Amino acid sequence: MTPASQSARSFLVRLGGEVTTKSRRVRQRFQQKLVQNLRDALAAHQVPFRQVENQWSRLLVQGDDSATEVLRRTFGVQSFSPIEGFAPCQLEQIVQIGKQLYHQRVQGRTYAVRAHRSGGCRLSAQRVNETLGAALNPGATVNLDRPEVTVHVLMTPQGAMFYHQVIPGPGGLPVGVQGKAVALLSGGFDSAVAAWHVLRRGVELHYVFFNLAGAAYQRLVVSVAKVLADLWSYGYRPQLHVVDFEPVVRALRTQVNPKYVQVVLKRLMYRAGSQVAQEIDAQAIVTGEALGQVSSQTLKNLAAIQPAAQVLVLRPLIGLDKEDIIAQSRTVGTYALSCKVQEYCALVPEKPVTAARIEAVDNEEGKLSPELLPPLVQQRRVLDLRRLEVEELVVESIYIDHVPQGAQVIDCRPDYQYDAWHYPGAINLPLEELIDNFKHLQRRRCYVLYCPFGLQSAAVAEKMQQAGFEAYSFRGGTAALRRWMQAQGITEDDPLVPDPRD
Ligand code: ATP
Ligand code: MG
Repeated sequence: MTPASQSARSFLVRLGGEVTTKSRRVRQRFQQKLVQNLRDALAAHQVPFRQVENQWSRLLVQGDDSATEVLRRTFGVQSFSPIEGFAPCQLEQIVQIGKQLYHQRVQGRTYAVRAHRSGGCRLSAQRVNETLGAALNPGATVNLDRPEVTVHVLMTPQGAMFYHQVIPGPGGLPVGVQGKAVALLSGGFDSAVAAWHVLRRGVELHYVFFNLAGAAYQRLVVSVAKVLADLWSYGYRPQLHVVDFEPVVRALRTQVNPKYVQVVLKRLMYRAGSQVAQEIDAQAIVTGEALGQVSSQTLKNLAAIQPAAQVLVLRPLIGLDKEDIIAQSRTVGTYALSCKVQEYCALVPEKPVTAARIEAVDNEEGKLSPELLPPLVQQRRVLDLRRLEVEELVVESIYIDHVPQGAQVIDCRPDYQYDAWHYPGAINLPLEELIDNFKHLQRRRCYVLYCPFGLQSAAVAEKMQQAGFEAYSFRGGTAALRRWMQAQGITEDDPLVPDPRD
């Protein structure tokens, strides 16, 4: 045991009863995984002096004060205590050092000394309680039932350790001991909290996101996934699989009875999620469904969606109320981001079916081409969440080579150029005016900006994306836009196409 150096700190880490009651072989595996996860967590957060020692009945972790935050978020840690001092396992030394450490702290307060023996230490715990308890006495009062300060002395064959705090960890099992699953992540409150519960039970989790609403939405969901990856997922490299679902949305709008759109959409999510799970050797998909929360989550509708799953479906929130889920999202750290995601609700038909019959859903789903889904899953993007900086996604998706249906086009050139020619339906907001005023634009629309070369408008589109807008710059500027119009057969007299999301 190395005594703590100036700013280094040691922590005593306790494992949960669920780990310690396992057979020796299983416990060994779980503890080794926890050691590995803690090493990864300390390194990921650049905690100095990092070391993890497996002492079987406990772990000893070296770090500095910043390790506290890591220990609070590593699943499998039941509780932990910052160690305040060490002493050889002899009565006089324990009393002398214990007095130095706690004399001030217990002044004017009630206290108790609790000594614990672990391993082969011969000293009687009761003697330590009495002798150190008496030595701390002047100016303080012993209260064994409800002390304000509890001085703990853990006596081990290697020496005695002192601590007075017991800080709860997140509990659960070390991530990775329960195999692998994929969580369907929409970025809303539910799916992030659902993922957290499954991580907490020791599952190595990867994420699948079906993008229904463009780049700005995607960036928010990536941010949610990054919170789960950076704060709660240690010992492996979590991935986010991004599947473009815009073609699915288009097909649903045109081919499926609107009442069934939600239920069929969920089936397609189950199918695509299962395909990803099977490809990465995962045993289950995880969803944030809670019984009766929305129309697609009635018991009958869940039963009608279920047959689309090719792997086990885990629904850890099935019995929870929305308020409880939202409260839990604060613990997870996704609350603020999920609030923003709520603004991007896609595809809510007026009167969705609430008690779908399986045959009717089969029939509606059967209207879609079987060729629709597999290529979209094949062409998905896989992001390494730990490595990824959310800003990277901005630069990658700043340019666009077409005008999406319903987009608002903004001509960023001076007004005399706009008067001479502009894209049909485009509004004129010269660059400076746009920079000052874009915050007042409607958030749920998609914007395509153009200027003579598409470069200055790219800078503004980037600013808009950073502020949460879906905005792009037309690659190549005015000339390229005119060429694209010609190729599409769009004439200058074409009316403005309405936004399907309005
Ligand atoms: P959340 O349930 O996360 O708040 P939501 O309310 O928008 O999101 P629901 O319609 O309740 O989503 O969908 C139920 C579940 O289906 C979600 O919890 C999530 O697991 C999955 N899901 C929904 N939309 C998506 C999506 N775009 N990408 C991935 N999974 C999704
Ligand atoms: Mg939901």
